[in-house]
Amino acid sequence: MFKVDRTNESDAVSQAIEQKMKELTELIALKEYGCEGPPKDLTWRQIETVGHGTGQTIAQRIAAAIQQEHREHFEAPQPCPQCGQECCQSDEVERELETLDGKVRVNEPQFHCNACRRSFFPSANRVGD
Ligand SMILES: [Zn+2]
Repeated sequence: MFKVDRTNESDAVSQAIEQKMKELTELIALKEYGCEGPPKDLTWRQIETVGHGTGQTIAQRIAAAIQQEHREHFEAPQPCPQCGQECCQSDEVERELETLDGKVRVNEPQFHCNACRRSFFPSANRVGD
């Protein structure tokens, strides 16, 4: 029987992330300063601003990607928050969510309860938790 070693898997993932971060850092520096590298008169504030902006962009992308994976939990019928009746997804709505690092656009599954005549977003109920 095959057994997954989570420690080795986690180490491998951490190493892969570290490698990708290194590559990303090199690409961001190349984009910002070209092949010549950063200019001599560059200030720490300017360096910090590039890093911070990149971090915000990464945080937004990660939040959106995880939200898209998380919404898969809501593909099955969901109970109406008002009457508890199981309801099917009626639509998918694009929404803009505010994150700690700016706005991200996500798609939320929308459900509709025919008994209560109302729509609800079960995956969005957890926003802010
Ligand atoms: Zn209902």
